[in-house]
Amino acid sequence: MSADTATQLNPTEGHILAGVQIDQHRFLARVKLPQLFQIAPDPRDTEDKRKLAASKDAQDLREIRLKVQRLFDGAKAKDVGSYAEYVAGDQRRYFVPCPLCGHMQWLRFERLRWEKGQPETAAYLCEDCEKPFGEHHKAALLGAGEWRATGTSRDPRTIGFHLSALYSRPGWKSWADIARDKEMVAGSDEAERVFRNTVLGETWVETGDAPDWQRLADRREDWAAGIVRAGGLFLTAGADVQKDRIEVDVWAWGRGLESWLVEHIVIDGGPGSVTCWQGLNELLGRTWPHANGQPLTIARLAIDTGYETPAVYAWARQVGFAQVAPVKGVEGFNRASPVTGPTFVDATVGGKRLRRGARLWTVAASTFKAETYRFLRLDRPAAEDVVGGASFAPGTVHLPRWAESEWLKQFVAEQLVTVRNKRGFARLEWQKLRERNEALDCRVYARAAAWIAGADRWSDAQWRELERQVAAPDHEEQAAPVHAVPRPVTRRRTVQSSYMR
Ligand SMILES: [Zn+2]
Repeated sequence: MSADTATQLNPTEGHILAGVQIDQHRFLARVKLPQLFQIAPDPRDTEDKRKLAASKDAQDLREIRLKVQRLFDGAKAKDVGSYAEYVAGDQRRYFVPCPLCGHMQWLRFERLRWEKGQPETAAYLCEDCEKPFGEHHKAALLGAGEWRATGTSRDPRTIGFHLSALYSRPGWKSWADIARDKEMVAGSDEAERVFRNTVLGETWVETGDAPDWQRLADRREDWAAGIVRAGGLFLTAGADVQKDRIEVDVWAWGRGLESWLVEHIVIDGGPGSVTCWQGLNELLGRTWPHANGQPLTIARLAIDTGYETPAVYAWARQVGFAQVAPVKGVEGFNRASPVTGPTFVDATVGGKRLRRGARLWTVAASTFKAETYRFLRLDRPAAEDVVGGASFAPGTVHLPRWAESEWLKQFVAEQLVTVRNKRGFARLEWQKLRERNEALDCRVYARAAAWIAGADRWSDAQWRELERQVAAPDHEEQAAPVHAVPRPVTRRRTVQSSYMR
């Protein structure tokens, strides 16, 4: 499967794969184990030995280094030799229990045994009890395994996942297939090297390096504040509630979740202030002109409930849940879906407690932060190619010239680090590099709003419909605001609604 295929898993499954393919057989990604098996390159691709030889160029380490360095923002200045350290990471390997004695171990080719000339007899020799077990145990082994670090990463932001074809899920490359490959390459150093690289050497690396804000500044584009650029097809907003203000960023989204910052708004007053909430109300009724002239409203506004939960619930209940989604951010990566909900929660309105009076969505903030930083690292076509019509990669984040350095710094204010507990087990955690990170939080909420609106699951026909809606209007039917799918209600006191996806 290609990197493109992996990216496509994201909208359909709701999973985020922070990954990039570095060559035909290698993939850098952060994934959960079941997904890892979904996206691991099908080792049967390597069975054609002529193809193996032909892929030698693609395997060229210089190419890989270049791509890895492009991946790790800011790594450019470093010596190419540091590549090995990056990839090595903390050498996380997948440990599985021996079905005979229970000893935890990671599978290595050296312990695969078979009768010479009879690869179908391949079995794995446990490193502890020294007894062989057959491949029919594999499904159970994979289910009972866990990732463990086998080294110490010199760069704590990097984790290396090593997984060989010995772990291929049942039905893919079998141990017998690997034994057969090994017999075929015997005697040729080059074929042996390729076999080791492709069949035994898949490597996964994760990075949470924050892109450099100065580089983002250099890539800003020229367009006026408040204008939705041509590729933007619907608007969402993310609202971050602070003690003395509410910050809102409005984002436009296009196909492939390409995005544009439309406006950055600070409403003074905080959750205790009536005028502050009125300011948000006005935002829900506002329109922003599309480059084609059509006015767009905010399809969804996601608002953080973390700071002053009752006030947010009361306001959301008042304006209705069709256009507004109260959200709660949670950390951690082991979630089946980046957004879950809504759950019904109690609200207090006018001093009265209303059971199940509000709705709350849970947002895997970690996942959307990783996605955002991955999007920020995407290669961009050269300016002259853009003029010539070159398109941007799906997910590309477009920032306007008017985005100030403070906003940019907030946008890249966090990094993913590996934290070890007392027993030495590592987990990933986002940590602030700077005190203020509202721009990143607002982005996460606006992204969640796009998910809630359904953008991750829309068919091509639905995207085409959005394109039709924002297209240059006929003279007869202009001026009616365009409501992105699903339509927001216009009368915001309506509580019952068509909010359901
Ligand atoms: Zn054993």
